[in-house]
Amino acid sequence: MKFSATFLSSFSAIEQLPKDGKPEIAVIGRSNVGKSSLINALAERKQLAKTSATPGKTRTLNFYEVNGTFYLVDMPGYGYAKQAKSDRADWARLTERYFLERKELTAVGLLVDARHPALESDLVAIEWFRDKKVPIFIVLTKCDKSKQAEVAQHEKALSKYYHVPLIFRTSSVKGLGMLELKKNLQKIAEESNFGGLHVFPQSSHE
Ligand code: GDP
Repeated sequence: MKFSATFLSSFSAIEQLPKDGKPEIAVIGRSNVGKSSLINALAERKQLAKTSATPGKTRTLNFYEVNGTFYLVDMPGYGYAKQAKSDRADWARLTERYFLERKELTAVGLLVDARHPALESDLVAIEWFRDKKVPIFIVLTKCDKSKQAEVAQHEKALSKYYHVPLIFRTSSVKGLGMLELKKNLQKIAEESNFGGLHVFPQSSHE
């Protein structure tokens, strides 16, 4: 499947973001979760996204254009970066504005290490997006490091208790789940053009 990704630019202010109206899918996750590896594996390019030697240092929205039709937006160290307090507050404000105000944002992919699926910070993120009605999906990373049955159990818990309907299993190292994820990213981007997205997590009270 065609998944031709090129780096567009890094942005540090909402006002600088592209004005071409293309749909955007943001990818977030703790440092070291395997985000750069996943972007590289999707694009089949070794060095498109730099794998992180210094986790959480860059605080920019990094835009990758895919197939000329939508953007993958890499948000390094979202929410978890080790930074000076004032820097952290600036970054939190920028990302919050992006999530809440950016019309082009179609969905947020939260990357979760398949071995540690219920970390407090990830659960807080899931709740926050649900509360703000931002559609999210989960990408389980490093599935090659876990037993299949274990991954299935984690997947079930995430969908049952946290009501995330769309969960993908991946391994960047083994190439597992890449085709499925590519197809779905394309689909999510396309559906947004018709105003119909169905990946909202449901409220646990419904
Ligand atoms: P980032 O900080 O989220 O961008 O994480 P990286 O992509 O830099 O990956 C962090 C570490 O996890 C690196 O040592 C990678 O080689 C390793 N890693 C990433 N993806 C996988 C995977 O699918 N399987 C395994 N076994 N290791 C992975």
